[in-house]
Amino acid sequence: MKIEILGCSGGMGKGEFTTCIRIDERLLIDAGSGLGEISQTEMLAIKQIFLTHAHLDHICFLPLLLDNLFELLESPIEVLALPETVEVLRKHIFNWQVWPDFSELPDKYQPALSYHPLSRVQPVETGDLTVFPIPARHVVPTCGYRVVSAEGKVFCFSGDTTYDEDVLQAYNQLGLINILMLECAFPDRLNTVAGHSKHLTPKRLLHFLQGLDQPPENLLITHMKPAFRAEIINELNNLDLPSTLHFLSSGDTFIL
Ligand SMILES: [Zn+2]
Ligand SMILES: [Zn+2]
Repeated sequence: MKIEILGCSGGMGKGEFTTCIRIDERLLIDAGSGLGEISQTEMLAIKQIFLTHAHLDHICFLPLLLDNLFELLESPIEVLALPETVEVLRKHIFNWQVWPDFSELPDKYQPALSYHPLSRVQPVETGDLTVFPIPARHVVPTCGYRVVSAEGKVFCFSGDTTYDEDVLQAYNQLGLINILMLECAFPDRLNTVAGHSKHLTPKRLLHFLQGLDQPPENLLITHMKPAFRAEIINELNNLDLPSTLHFLSSGDTFIL
């Protein structure tokens, strides 16, 4: 499994792109501004987009992607997400007011976009990968994803989440995670803001990892707010974390 980080920032700025992960050239998790970093040919190779939630930093380039490709596609791009997320897209984005409804364009019978509401318990088989939604705790309905290769290698992405007992218990049912991509949006001094917006800080992240029966082999840190990146990295480096740490930048690639 080839995992490419097209975007992993909690904000914007030169070289900073929001969440978009490409797996094996044809599958995306989230469609943040990192999606704008690939060529038209690469865009055409994308068949499925799994969304964690409907916040703008995770979906902002989906409308633009469909606008780029809609006359060129041979089959619709499948958008897979929790039913609540699909509903937000239908109602508030692809509603002809914010953006055209690409589930009817260019033709109702051959649209550019097809919606696939996900069951929270049912995995999706796609090629030689299996994708399982996993729980997250954020201010809107959100899931993370666990992607398992044919060889049994496991990549997990938390989505936006804060520390939560139920989420932790769910992770403890997952077995070994080879790579865990976990958010850490704020430094510890902004713990109150992190609590309100339901994100992690280094201490909340430590608490989460200490609660795992089996810490991941590799821990990728994502979604750091650009203004606090150095501060968050410093705080995380000073913690005694049980996994190999990697602070993500867009363009990073991992083979699993
Ligand atoms: Zn969010
Ligand atoms: Zn976010």
